[in-house]
Amino acid sequence: MTSAYQQQLAKQLHAAEARIAAVRALHQPVTGYTGWGPDDDPTPGAYGPISQACTTCGSEDDAVRWPCGTIRALNTSRSSAGDLLAALTHSVRAAQDYDRAMQKLATELGFGAEAQP
Ligand SMILES: [Zn+2]
Repeated sequence: MTSAYQQQLAKQLHAAEARIAAVRALHQPVTGYTGWGPDDDPTPGAYGPISQACTTCGSEDDAVRWPCGTIRALNTSRSSAGDLLAALTHSVRAAQDYDRAMQKLATELGFGAEAQP
């Protein structure tokens, strides 16, 4: 027999597991992407094929090596709210880096940053 409190905890646990599964579903390994070699790569800073990249972090031509920071944080043995927060922070920073790179590219190509009439 379970108490109402135990039932509530089980419900919260299942909801948290469902959210983690949704995050994992977004971050899957993929091949055929290219990007910049990370610092611990044999050729750090070199641009080229990434053997396995994340489908969500980075992009097809600016790939993030698999497993990405989000999956590494989820895979740590001490999964905790702090790890999830670190993973989410990593994802937000990656998205911000991507936005900045796209804005820079648009400026270099002469799009955007033009005076409004
Ligand atoms: Zn990822």
